[in-house]
Amino acid sequence: MKAELVSFIIDMAFLLSASGFFVCLKLLSSPKTARRGNFIGAGAMLLATITTFAMERPSALLPIFLAIFLGSLVGVVSAKRVQMTAMPQMIAIFNGFGGLASVLVAIAEVVRLYFVHVNNPSVLFSVTAWFSVAVGAITFTGSTVAYLKLQEIMPTRPILVRGTRIVTIGLTLATFFALYLLLVDPKDMLVFFGLCVVASVLGILLVIPIGGADMPVVISLLNSYSGLAALAVGFVVKSNILIISGALVGASGVILTRLMCQAMNRSLMHVVFGAFGGVELSLAAGEEKPMREYSPMDAAMLLKNASKVIIVPGYGLAVSQAQRNLRELADELKANGVHVSYAIHPVAGRMPGHMNVLLAEADVPYNELFDLDEINGEFETADVAVVIGANDVVNPSARTDKSSPLYGMPILNADKAKAVIVLKRGRGRGFAGVENPLFTLDKTGVVYGDAKQSLVKTILAMKEL
Ligand code: NAP
Repeated sequence: MKAELVSFIIDMAFLLSASGFFVCLKLLSSPKTARRGNFIGAGAMLLATITTFAMERPSALLPIFLAIFLGSLVGVVSAKRVQMTAMPQMIAIFNGFGGLASVLVAIAEVVRLYFVHVNNPSVLFSVTAWFSVAVGAITFTGSTVAYLKLQEIMPTRPILVRGTRIVTIGLTLATFFALYLLLVDPKDMLVFFGLCVVASVLGILLVIPIGGADMPVVISLLNSYSGLAALAVGFVVKSNILIISGALVGASGVILTRLMCQAMNRSLMHVVFGAFGGVELSLAAGEEKPMREYSPMDAAMLLKNASKVIIVPGYGLAVSQAQRNLRELADELKANGVHVSYAIHPVAGRMPGHMNVLLAEADVPYNELFDLDEINGEFETADVAVVIGANDVVNPSARTDKSSPLYGMPILNADKAKAVIVLKRGRGRGFAGVENPLFTLDKTGVVYGDAKQSLVKTILAMKEL
């Protein structure tokens, strides 16, 4: 009776955790509810972890709680130190650890079953164990390269070495061949270690030729790989909750990857095999056109006389942490009867939803934020487009210049506004590393300086007028 009750409680705890994951994903889909969703997801994961440990090792709960406490401490301390702009790197390294964990759990379980208990495991066990090792190893090394590139420890440009593609294809075939050999003889440890090495090298070779501007898509793809590896390892250790959470991570990663590809107008095949950004260097060598400089007073005068202003925030706004000053500028404009809206590009900043999070911090009303499709038709009737720390997402060469690495990416039509004010520090390029013809148009003026300082000076100038 007691055993039945314990088993019932465990089942209910897992059911509650699984429901929590679903509710979390639903709530994460809107900035209004995302914070609550995050808490529910974290709570569900804590419940699932504690239930699993309590079920498997009821006698060793103290060291397990100590491990959970220490892990949480490391997580909180490191997450607090990481700037919002460095989130993609953090996600990349988390994905990598997820992949590594799947590899290690699968190896431990294989060794335990084949060599300690000397059992004859099922085909499902063998297939899922080798799948976790292969996908987990690719995720680990691929994510490590993505991290090194985003942290600029490695060059962010695509690294193309002659013959890489043939080696990559060869290693992919070798991975499948090793999986086949392991199905025939699951206990062949030489092939097993060969599979680990081949998959690890494959992860490196798959990510190295991809340029920095495509990295968000790659990270999202690797995120889904880490979910698939966890799903497979769920079958290995017979954990339903791991299968459910792995499937959710895998599926949501695929959905996000698809949405990002659509936002950048690129096929996944092109991202992974297209060596995006390969023409950056030739463009970089071109002659630089002058940009017209505006003083904060010039900008203030233009804004004061406008009746419709569209603000385009980008990565530089996040670097400068100027979201509250931007809100002040918008309030000042609205007090003068100007219609203000914000144009949000899906890949502005350094992570999906970056601008939404930033503007939400400054309590910018959600109904003033518009997606690319909603706002692009509005630029033609706007008196001023204010581009704050954005570059690639407003680069008109994406529309016309087939040689540009940004070609085909949908952009915000800031160049269609009657006048453009750009806030940036100097001649710095965007993430893709290419020139932006918007900045040298006759109707564009650049207020040089850190976005926060420029906004403070422009607001002061507006108040003086
Ligand atoms: P961006 O192309 O990276 O341009 C940022 C601009 O901000 C630069 O022109 C820079 O010029 C300026 N800037 C930097 N610090 C500044 C400061 N303190 N004050 C004022 N200006 C500052 O940004 P974006 O237009 O937002 O485009 C995002 C890019 O990142 C895209 O290429 C996208 O593919 C990529 N990406 C996106 C994600 C994502 O998921 N959202 C993730 C990773 C990468 P100065 O140096 O002259 O100031």
